[in-house]
Amino acid sequence: MNIQAKLSVTYIVLLVIGIITISAYAILSIRFYLFAEGLEQFKDDAKIVRQAVESSDENTDFFPFITQTSALFDYDLALFDSTGIPIYNTVPEQQFIDSREFLSEPVVDSIGRTGDRIYVINDPEYERIVAFAEVRDGYPSIHYLRISKDKKEYYEAVDNIRHIIYAGMLFSIAAVMVVSFVFSRYMAGPIKQLNDAALNIAGGKHYETLEIDRNDEFGTLAHSLNKMAEKFKQDNRQLQILNKKQNQFFADIAHEVRNPLHTISGAVEMIQMEGLSEDKKQQYLHTVQKQVERVVRLFNDIKMLQRYDLDEHFLTKSEFVVSEFISQLIESYRPIAEEKNIKIETELLDNGSVHADKDKIDQVLDNLITNAIKYTNEGSITVRVTGEGSKLWISVMDTGIGIADEHLEHLFDRFYRTDKARSRDKGGTGLGLAVVRSILKAHNTDILVSSLPAKGSTFYFSLDKVS
Ligand code: ATP
Ligand code: MG
Repeated sequence: MNIQAKLSVTYIVLLVIGIITISAYAILSIRFYLFAEGLEQFKDDAKIVRQAVESSDENTDFFPFITQTSALFDYDLALFDSTGIPIYNTVPEQQFIDSREFLSEPVVDSIGRTGDRIYVINDPEYERIVAFAEVRDGYPSIHYLRISKDKKEYYEAVDNIRHIIYAGMLFSIAAVMVVSFVFSRYMAGPIKQLNDAALNIAGGKHYETLEIDRNDEFGTLAHSLNKMAEKFKQDNRQLQILNKKQNQFFADIAHEVRNPLHTISGAVEMIQMEGLSEDKKQQYLHTVQKQVERVVRLFNDIKMLQRYDLDEHFLTKSEFVVSEFISQLIESYRPIAEEKNIKIETELLDNGSVHADKDKIDQVLDNLITNAIKYTNEGSITVRVTGEGSKLWISVMDTGIGIADEHLEHLFDRFYRTDKARSRDKGGTGLGLAVVRSILKAHNTDILVSSLPAKGSTFYFSLDKVS
């Protein structure tokens, strides 16, 4: 049984039980009420008939008058003498089959005990209600009167109402069935839609955005599914991009390793040549060594990036004064700079300390300063430390070749070089700035650049000062 049928059946069963219970309760209440009202009326009528009997005497045209009165009220009437013998009866006494309708001793006792001298017999097993009244005045020899009526007459009104209630009940049940069907369809309808959508997501098929504009759990679920599908789509796109990047990354590694290996292989061949001068041999050996160093550096950089990819917090932090650190390390770059006739200057304007990984910051500065030297043909390089609030800004500025705008956004991508051939000539692999960015990201900061072609570049970053 599907959920819609289950819902329909449940609603219908519950509502039908409810309708039948309410109808039965209504019928019983009305029946009880009408009979209780009728009983009161019956007692009052007994008093009126007694009054009529008491106000008559021998001279009155008594029996026709009494017959008329009882007919008026639609009661069967009987009159008894003081010993209980019937004197007058509007219907033959034989019609009464129950002895309780006769004036018996217990009845007489009961009449005496009631204040208004009227005793009503309403036995559930008996089909008539009967009232006896004591008569004190009027026609001599009449001491008691009895009126009676079939209970059915009281229930006739209930019967009419009952039919109306039954009709209402049937109508309600029919309405309930229709409404239950429509409502259960409304309730269960989206389930199929949601199921199809979930299957589409699971199967990686095309997903149509669900349009279930409802203010209930189904609406919320549809909204969540739409969000989930959108997230899957985004993740999928991301995965595809990552996959592409990874393929590119491996292709680049292969490419970067192939070049030095070729050079090494050529140099080794040359070394093996007979009659090669010692000078030349040393030169080729030096080339081999340089290329091996380059490959080692390449793999070290890759290892560093890999580590950063796996764990963003691969740092061993300590507190140190940046300006002191820079003034020491800068010395080791002077010889290579001087070789190119480039001046190295420092502007250490803030003596603040930072809590950072000293070796990694060294690596960052090494990359930036080496780049600055590498890509500057004349002029100077300035390493500056300034303070700004709780931050310490460190910049490496050169008067070099600069970088065109279109390269700036890719500059920190792995293996990206503005001029591949030129950079490779200079021994570069294009991983330096990617490593710089990874290290600074691990320090919750980032590398920034501003550059003008043929004018020079400035790479800068900030670190939080230790207060
Ligand atoms: P590696 O640093 O791995 O030895 P690389 O220096 O070529 O190689 P990156 O440091 O990542 O690689 O720099 C990427 C590219 O950005 C360089 O190839 C160069 O084109 C450009 N670049 C970097 N720094 C400068 C600079 N100071 N001036 C001009 N161009 C620069
Ligand atoms: Mg570099």
